[in-house]
Amino acid sequence: MADIIQLLPDFVANQIAAGEVISRPASAVKELLENAIDAKASEIKLLIKDAGKTLIQVIDNGIGMSVTDARLAFERHATSKIRSAQDLFSLHTKGFRGEALASIAAVSQVELITKQADSEVGTEIHIEGNKVTSQEPCVALTGTSIAMRNLFFNIPARRNFLKSDNVELRYILDEFHRVALAHPEISFYMYNNGSEVFNLPKSNLRQRIVHIFGSKMNEKLVPINEEINEIKISGFICKPSSKKNKTAQYFIINQRFIKNRYLHHAVTSAYEGLLKEGEQPEYFIHLELDPKTIDINIHPTKTEIKFEDEHTIYALLKSVVKRSLGQFNVAPSIDFSLSEEYTTPYHYKDKTSKTPTIVVDSNFNPFKMDFETPSFQKKSSFSQTNFKKDTASWEALYTGIPSRVNTFETASVGEFDTPSLFENTTDFETTNNTILFFQKKYIITPLKDKILIIHTSRAHQRILYERFAKNINDHKAFSQQLLFPMEFEFSAMECQALASLKSVLEATGFLLEIHSKGVQILGIPVNLSESVVKEVLNDLVANELEQIPQENSLKKELLAKSLAKSSAIRSGETITQEAQQQLVKDLFSCNEPSISPFGKKIFTELSSNEINNKLS
Ligand code: ADP
Ligand code: MG
Repeated sequence: MADIIQLLPDFVANQIAAGEVISRPASAVKELLENAIDAKASEIKLLIKDAGKTLIQVIDNGIGMSVTDARLAFERHATSKIRSAQDLFSLHTKGFRGEALASIAAVSQVELITKQADSEVGTEIHIEGNKVTSQEPCVALTGTSIAMRNLFFNIPARRNFLKSDNVELRYILDEFHRVALAHPEISFYMYNNGSEVFNLPKSNLRQRIVHIFGSKMNEKLVPINEEINEIKISGFICKPSSKKNKTAQYFIINQRFIKNRYLHHAVTSAYEGLLKEGEQPEYFIHLELDPKTIDINIHPTKTEIKFEDEHTIYALLKSVVKRSLGQFNVAPSIDFSLSEEYTTPYHYKDKTSKTPTIVVDSNFNPFKMDFETPSFQKKSSFSQTNFKKDTASWEALYTGIPSRVNTFETASVGEFDTPSLFENTTDFETTNNTILFFQKKYIITPLKDKILIIHTSRAHQRILYERFAKNINDHKAFSQQLLFPMEFEFSAMECQALASLKSVLEATGFLLEIHSKGVQILGIPVNLSESVVKEVLNDLVANELEQIPQENSLKKELLAKSLAKSSAIRSGETITQEAQQQLVKDLFSCNEPSISPFGKKIFTELSSNEINNKLS
């Protein structure tokens, strides 16, 4: 049989290779903008016609090219940016493959005009389908202008694959935003079909974001800033809002936009409990790292990168985001996320164990359910104490921490510490006769001109969660020794999971011994009922065995959640009127009263207008 293999002609090979780099107008836009930045331009103009299908032109005031370079630039693997593969690890430019201009020239009609600062004249080159059709000196300003016309003019099949102008323009805008957000120090202009779309003067990042996304965004921005171990994190995260679909999520590493699901997870988990189901956080996060510690050479269009030490970046990022959310009163200012690497490690030996003092109230009469001795009639953690006393004992746990919990007697209407997300709480009126406990599930109470319907169990979860969280984080947990140690069986795998949770559990007040077949619990956190211990441990082990990355911070958070869930009042349980009022008050002393630690809505409102409408 005859030989059938042959080498592809250059122009076919080029077209195929070009497809990898230039798949649509937006990819050409990205490459041209990045070349202009690499050329140190301080002002870049992007001109588009028909969503880039007819024309994409980028004009910069950068360093320009010499006559020979201008010609060479269009050769495949022609680059001024690296000399050897080693240079990839000290990369300070966007480009390095030397493929973009060759690809662009392979699939469109290109006109290049360029001039270096010290040259008298510039160079003008025309190329069509990789063939130079003309080259001559010309009058030009310093910098470079590259115009590419009729994208895919020579590959009709690919041209047919392009989407509608609207869609392609959206892709272009995405790329433009990414580049503009990575470089607020450069002025960018964009024109579409002759009209100005963006005029972004040189500015700082906040102004750049506002210029692109509008002034509404300004109010949402919460700055972040941290520099540890040669990792610098800066930029902004956004206060949670009800945006579900297209959200602004930008990671910019060494001024290059990247996508990274792992880092996205770090940010999302820092928002845990603040976003309702389906909601996405918005962020503009700049990271600066030593180029040696990242590898960007894994994707032709370079939006994905590898990190040498992903875990540290994950932990740091989560901690920084969480802290900023807390500082700006967006979230509980619980700094779980400080992983052990960044905080003084917890040493159990440093803790002085304290035996809780027991005060016996000789006047206590469990059958007298009046104002003085409200009783939480539930079997779990509060079974033997009243709600008010419980609050007091909690406060005792965080001596030295300014308490946000007002006691019933002293709190006057205006005294509530109003969380920023919930501005109406100052108007909360608590009087004995305005609370209704509906179906043993909802607390219904008036608030200004509205009626609030509060999910009791979720509200209690939120209150307990914030308290446990603070407690764990401040290492202020107290243990109650068990008279009769509890014994639970666990599989070998589960025991391993427990072993890795041990230090976190101890930080909460657990005293435990893990052996090969299970665990022996010698002490549990004060205020935790023995009856929920098994549930809490099961919860934690199950989470630990899941594949999600878990540093100690996450474990602590899960523990606080689990403790809160197990100890909270459940629907169907009865609580006294006094406890109901205390609960409402405690809820609105929380940092985040509207969402349960599990992301569920805690209350809903009915305005007087709505009531009027219903009755008209
Ligand atoms: P890469 O950016 O990967 O080096 P390109 O094909 O994008 O490859 O560009 C090839 C070379 O052309 C670059 O290395 C650079 O030297 C030169 N070049 C491209 N665009 C410009 C520009 N706008 N200004 C100055 N030089 C440029
Ligand atoms: Mg390039």
